[in-house]
Amino acid sequence: MTIQKALEELGNLVKLFSSQELPEMCKQVFIQNVGPSRKWSLGNRLVMLLHGTADARGYRQWQESGRYVKKGAKAFYILAPMIRHKKVVNEKGKEDDVKFPVGFIGIPVFQYEDTDGKPVEEYQPTKLPPLLDVAEKFGVKVEYGPTISGEGGSYNLVTNVIKLSQENPDTFFHELAHKAHSTFESLKPVQDPEQETVAQLSACVLAKLYGYDATTFSWNYIASYAEEKSPEAVGRICMRVLSKVQKVITLIIETHEKQEVVV
Ligand SMILES: [Zn+2]
Repeated sequence: MTIQKALEELGNLVKLFSSQELPEMCKQVFIQNVGPSRKWSLGNRLVMLLHGTADARGYRQWQESGRYVKKGAKAFYILAPMIRHKKVVNEKGKEDDVKFPVGFIGIPVFQYEDTDGKPVEEYQPTKLPPLLDVAEKFGVKVEYGPTISGEGGSYNLVTNVIKLSQENPDTFFHELAHKAHSTFESLKPVQDPEQETVAQLSACVLAKLYGYDATTFSWNYIASYAEEKSPEAVGRICMRVLSKVQKVITLIIETHEKQEVVV
């Protein structure tokens, strides 16, 4: 893993981001790991994300986990298939119990943010992201669990905690990049277009180096902060932050390699 290779990747990405419209609807594939929703269909999980939460459960499910739904909270609905059972006589003349779907039923669920009570159970991620040692070296605590407004991750400048609600490495890299960025520039405590571009472009390069592809998601993410959703505008904002991205990536890789020597 060399810094040279990272910088080459960065150059390629900026070229790609500046010249090509990437497919719009390619959403980040996420692995949901909190609560029952991790077993939901992709459609239902998208519905949940559109409602701005990473953890939604039925009224009773919240009760079972030691939390209660706050007064006045509104439910939203996910769809579950309705299954009927039917006795069918097989070739041997015996009756089989056959299940078949007969449509969908809406199930009301409430978002984590509308509940109170016992803290939700901690979960252990199935796979830890690369470069976790860098967070440790920076003195950052990494926690897994639902985030306040359902975003994939967050970095809190004050508490120095990275919170992740999903396991794709580029989400972690994005937050780690915010941290690295904060070591040489004081960051604004808001979603600032330049800061977000620094973080996501860095994350995209690091993801590439570790064999993950976050290109499409990154392009769309940066475009959502650019003046307009065009390759030109995305290219412009990328160019503007290029030297900061180089600094962030260099710092992260150098920190990582320093540790390898020590170990
Ligand atoms: Zn960010």
